[in-house]
Amino acid sequence: MEITLNVPVIAGCDVTDCAYNSDHTCHAKAISVGNGVSPACDTMVQGDMEPDEMNIAGVGACKVRDCVFNNDLECGAAHVFVGRDGDGAVCVTYTAL
Ligand code: SF4
Repeated sequence: MEITLNVPVIAGCDVTDCAYNSDHTCHAKAISVGNGVSPACDTMVQGDMEPDEMNIAGVGACKVRDCVFNNDLECGAAHVFVGRDGDGAVCVTYTAL
């Protein structure tokens, strides 16, 4: 059984050393955002694999309550961009309340 998620799409991601990234596109089925400290992408994993390019990622869950787009731990943005943050990845659409 497959399900369809109605979530904001990841419109672009600059973290090209992530295993899910191909051509600045995230191919995870969905990402989780927020590590309690920053709007970090919790799904990012370094590695070399062929991501399933049939997948276009969306924001499955977001723990960043102090973002203007956060509705009860779900992202309400039209779309989201992800960028580099040191060795990690971060939601750059994040906008503080
Ligand atoms: S825009 Fe805000 S609510 Fe959406 S994923 Fe980024 S931090 Fe979370």
